[in-house]
Amino acid sequence: MSELLTFFQGRRGDMVELLKTLVSYETPTRDKASVDKMGAFMEARFNELGASSVTRIPQTEVGDLLLAKWNEGAPGKPIMFLIHIDTVWPLGTLAERPTYIDDQDRLFGPGAIDMKGGITIVLETLRGLKDRGEMPDRPIWVLMTSDEEVGSVYSNATIKAESPKVGLVLVMEPATIDEALKTMRKGVATYRLDIEGLPSHAGNQPEKGVNAIIEFANQALIINRMNDLKNGRSVSVTMVEGGSATNVIPAHVTAFVDTRAISVQQFEETEGMLLELQAVVPGAKLKIERINGHTPMERNDAMVGNYQQAKRLGEAQGLTITEASSGGGSDGNTVASLGVAVLDGLGPQGDGLHALHEHVVLNSMPRRCTLIAAMLKDWVFEEE
Ligand SMILES: [Zn+2]
Repeated sequence: MSELLTFFQGRRGDMVELLKTLVSYETPTRDKASVDKMGAFMEARFNELGASSVTRIPQTEVGDLLLAKWNEGAPGKPIMFLIHIDTVWPLGTLAERPTYIDDQDRLFGPGAIDMKGGITIVLETLRGLKDRGEMPDRPIWVLMTSDEEVGSVYSNATIKAESPKVGLVLVMEPATIDEALKTMRKGVATYRLDIEGLPSHAGNQPEKGVNAIIEFANQALIINRMNDLKNGRSVSVTMVEGGSATNVIPAHVTAFVDTRAISVQQFEETEGMLLELQAVVPGAKLKIERINGHTPMERNDAMVGNYQQAKRLGEAQGLTITEASSGGGSDGNTVASLGVAVLDGLGPQGDGLHALHEHVVLNSMPRRCTLIAAMLKDWVFEEE
């Protein structure tokens, strides 16, 4: 076991206490006042850890964002942590499901793995390096957002403005249940399909109508055939609503389609297929539009190179570093779409995101702090 890992293992108790404190702040995205309370706690921690500046980016609908920087004058490109302090859990969840640690040293609590565990690791890594007098002479940034769980609608502009200024973004979303980093995240897009037919009395003149539900049934089967799960593409009709009365040929259907893709090319191909859908029932009209989405975080050459460097640095500390992919998106997708180097899943091992069994494997926290400390100390940018 490396000296650095031994050091962080000695701080496991502090990590658990900090994680409990962070979970004790209930931070549902839409409750600005509650999220700002945790924001104030974070601002105080950043200052205590010797940040050279902490900039507040005020928000009206969600919690304020913070951008904290260390060693601003130091040479080289910054490494930036990307964290979000909001959770999917409403106020009062903690009273129903108080934090506890089970006999396998797993901490259960709302928001523990997504992503208060990852935030704990950032703060404890910086504190550890500072206390050891080993804060590396390079710029280190932390961008703290507050609305990831609603798709980062408000923080997106800031993420897009700041990420291109740095050399590497470390997304502190949880590792997998096996403690793997995430080197691929599928692209995700949701489409809205509106079908317009023509109403008519189902008894007197059914033939004068254009049945939007029959048109939808045709389209649902066509869309379903776009699935190519073997190659990473999924296309799922997930919601549908239509018709107006039991005795009327239905004139309207609205449906939603969820799509996932592993490459930007596949993502665009899928969109192309959906936008080119043609009506089957004579007289029916289709309108399909994308209502949200983000492109995949591809496992491209740059991703593989950065993963391998992280793996080398981790293995030098006696850690086992593995990689995996995720079907869900994160802010990592946004960063990747800008062509900025990114590694995701740097948070602790755990499971149950957005679920009742949400938990952090406590023993993984010193390991992650060690990996990240080693990366901050020794990371080499390719072109340097
Ligand atoms: Zn998250």
